[in-house]
Amino acid sequence: MKKALVTGGSGGIGAAICRRLAADGCHVYVHANRGVDAAQELVEGIRATGGSAEAISFDVTDSAAVSAALLPLIEDAPIQILVNNAGIHDDAVFPGMRPDQWHRVIDVSVNGFFNVTQPLMMPMIRSRWGRIINISSISGIAGNRGQTNYSAAKGALNAATKSLSQEVASRGITVNAVAPGIIETAMTEGTFDPGMIKQMVPMKRAGKPGEVASLVAYLASDEAAYISGQVISINGGML
Ligand code: NDP
Repeated sequence: MKKALVTGGSGGIGAAICRRLAADGCHVYVHANRGVDAAQELVEGIRATGGSAEAISFDVTDSAAVSAALLPLIEDAPIQILVNNAGIHDDAVFPGMRPDQWHRVIDVSVNGFFNVTQPLMMPMIRSRWGRIINISSISGIAGNRGQTNYSAAKGALNAATKSLSQEVASRGITVNAVAPGIIETAMTEGTFDPGMIKQMVPMKRAGKPGEVASLVAYLASDEAAYISGQVISINGGML
């Protein structure tokens, strides 16, 4: 049974990815930061339907805490599927953006990617099979007013995806980014009303977390072995 780690598994998109990877037969580490109860509830739901999962928690910006949590998990077998999904946004027009808004958003996405991915790499490389899927955003491709920090963070993740994919391609490891548009989760609740969504999205609706999870599950599968270094959009036709 392959082991999969989904950071931000306590959130809307992360939870859907956890459920789907568990249904596909993985042992899933459902990661949370503050939402440990939500992660534990999800684990119980997965187990109730015959899946295999356990909850873990750490702040992805705290490299010592990340290593302390992850190293025991890979003592016996590597984590071969990693979904870097934890992310935050903290929007402000640029002239009014505070330094802490800039630094925190980048810290979670970019330093979080490094802190979680780096300790898992050597065991994954030795196993000659791996899948790394970074959850990016349309904002990292097209930009978005009020999201200069978030766009910079997700754009950096897209670029890191491409470089790392080239380093590990010969070891059977693929590295891709998934760039959602507007997906129905707590993150977008209250940000977009139905009228705005109809205007912005050619398909006239927000995406569902399960639709993102289906794409991630495909990229995590054996079938997607020849797809690497890509940033794949899932946005109802917005670009
Ligand atoms: P949620 O706010 O529902 O979930 C965010 C997740 O990130 C939570 O599980 C949260 O953990 C975790 N997280 C936040 N900060 C940290 C941290 N410092 N350390 C560890 N974990 C942390 O968001 P979504 O499910 O909507 O978003 C998931 C991903 O998808 C994000 O990367 C987001 O940028 C991206 N995305 C979302 C879109 C949308 O429309 N919803 C569109 C495009 C991209 P906890 O709650 O346990 O603290």
